[in-house]
Amino acid sequence: MSNGTRIYPEEREPRAIKIRQPKHTGRKILLCVLSAILIIAIGGGVFAFIEYGPDLGFSIISEKTKDESQPDEPVNEEPIQSSEPEIPEEPVSEPEPVVPEEPEENPVEEEPVEEEPVIEEPEIPRDEWYMILVNRANPLPADYTFNTKTIDDKGHSVDERIYNDLAEMIAAGTSEGLDFVFYTGYRTVDRQNELFALGNTDIPGGSSEHNCGLGIDIGNSSDGEFEGSPEHQWLIEHAHEYGFILRYPKGKEQITGFDYEPWHFRYVGKEQAKLIYESGLCLEEYLAQE
Ligand SMILES: [Zn+2]
Repeated sequence: MSNGTRIYPEEREPRAIKIRQPKHTGRKILLCVLSAILIIAIGGGVFAFIEYGPDLGFSIISEKTKDESQPDEPVNEEPIQSSEPEIPEEPVSEPEPVVPEEPEENPVEEEPVEEEPVIEEPEIPRDEWYMILVNRANPLPADYTFNTKTIDDKGHSVDERIYNDLAEMIAAGTSEGLDFVFYTGYRTVDRQNELFALGNTDIPGGSSEHNCGLGIDIGNSSDGEFEGSPEHQWLIEHAHEYGFILRYPKGKEQITGFDYEPWHFRYVGKEQAKLIYESGLCLEEYLAQE
């Protein structure tokens, strides 16, 4: 009995315990090892995926792809940083709504550009009485009438509408010590035809500016040549200021149909006289402009 009792607990229980214990510890160790390996494997795998995944073409983390694209555009980063000070300029771009004011200014600028040709066209008042063209090809209309006014004690006269400007011009030159005389003023068409018939002129009645009262021959009291005299030089420089132009300039004979006449001045008004004087054109050329 004692052997049975000794053997029973000693042989079975201890053996079972001794055998079971190593089995439990072995499994635990194995589980620990396996779990450790699994953890290491998973951790390593995750690490490797995160670290090298992008290099293999994976793009899970968008921030890293952005970080990688930035070093490719280092030059762009700096201008972006430099553009940051430009950001305060955005308030400047915000007044860009002010820019719509510029297009408002542009049409304002364009309008004067359009006004210029509009102004230039009416600058030649061809229908005004003082712009009438009288020459061989353009004789006076038969019904052309006007009032005359005497300009000196010899009975010379002109269209009364030019009297004041003529008197002002003569007074201005006289005040500078010059001595003007009138050779020919207004001449009737009938008188013109008489002179033409006598061969004293080659210009028939109606084709001379003396017939319209706007042309006048001016000389001086000296016996010398009028051209080049102080009076002539002064008229060349100042006649346009009073509305008169040298009507038959040298070099324009083929256009005017008249020989050069340094003494013949024609009234066209102060504004047009200045423009014609500055243009260098004779009246035919000036009126022929578009
Ligand atoms: Zn004349």
